[in-house]
Amino acid sequence: MPHIFTPDTSVTPTAWKMIRPLRGEIFTLPRDVLIRRPGGDAARLGGASWYLLSPAGANVRVNGESVFLGSRAVHHRDEILIEGERFFFSTEKLAAIEPLPDMGHTVHCARCKQAAPAGGPAVCCPGCGAWFHQNGEYDCWTYDEKCSLCGFSTALGGGYQWTPDLEGWS
Ligand SMILES: [Zn+2]
Ligand SMILES: [Zn+2]
Repeated sequence: MPHIFTPDTSVTPTAWKMIRPLRGEIFTLPRDVLIRRPGGDAARLGGASWYLLSPAGANVRVNGESVFLGSRAVHHRDEILIEGERFFFSTEKLAAIEPLPDMGHTVHCARCKQAAPAGGPAVCCPGCGAWFHQNGEYDCWTYDEKCSLCGFSTALGGGYQWTPDLEGWS
């Protein structure tokens, strides 16, 4: 689930506040600036892009560039300035146990290579998108500290690995 970091100046030292999208699909920011996924085919086909929509007259910058045409794509780690207020967009996902979606074909666990049943508890690796059993009997996701394909940490319930501090923002 994408999220946005913004400085919480009500605490000292300043910490990061996290903004989550309404219904998982739209962020509402100051000055009626919106960040949303494109609808229709692009979303259905898994288009990963999110778009920032800025009303005329709002002073909005993404990575230092003015948003001229009222809309532009935003990506992981982009810095967004709205009238001088700072936000950071992140598309990092956390690993979580969820029912394996029915994908219309057999899915094989990336660790043990056995078929993983649709609807059964499984984890989708946030790093590479591969699926792993995680049903109590076969805990293939947490079997090792890292995803066997891409090396993503298999900690469950852990925090986000990327925060703006990593870019030197604080
Ligand atoms: Zn497995
Ligand atoms: Zn992976």
